[in-house]
Amino acid sequence: MAEETIFSKIIRREIPADIVYQDELVTAFRDISPKAPTHVLIVPNILVPTANDVSEAHEQAMGRMFTVAAKIAKQEGIAEDGYRLIVNCNRHGGQEVYHIHMHLVGGCPLGPMLS
Ligand code: 5GP
Repeated sequence: MAEETIFSKIIRREIPADIVYQDELVTAFRDISPKAPTHVLIVPNILVPTANDVSEAHEQAMGRMFTVAAKIAKQEGIAEDGYRLIVNCNRHGGQEVYHIHMHLVGGCPLGPMLS
């Protein structure tokens, strides 16, 4: 059984966060340390630690993360100019919180990804 992270507490609204969207599958909230004018984290409500742990059972939630990302991008007014969706995995991927999450980052030019 994977250990819960702070994100589980945010999902259950036990600790404060700027939640911009929530439904039965996913929760989206603003990153506490934003790297761009828009920086939202989209997470499944159930604990999936990393991209390595994604299975067929999670396909609905993973798909919902993308549809919610598109919805939030439009709400934020960044859809036309564009944005970046990032999922970090494990140490080499720079993952810090072991509850899989998609970063939605935009609102300014982001430059080449691997610079
Ligand atoms: P990772 O490096 O795991 O892909 O990204 C984790 C992200 O979670 C970081 O961008 C970090 O700023 C954000 N984060 C960590 N703790 C909290 C928190 O308590 N609240 C919020 N809103 N974001 C957090």
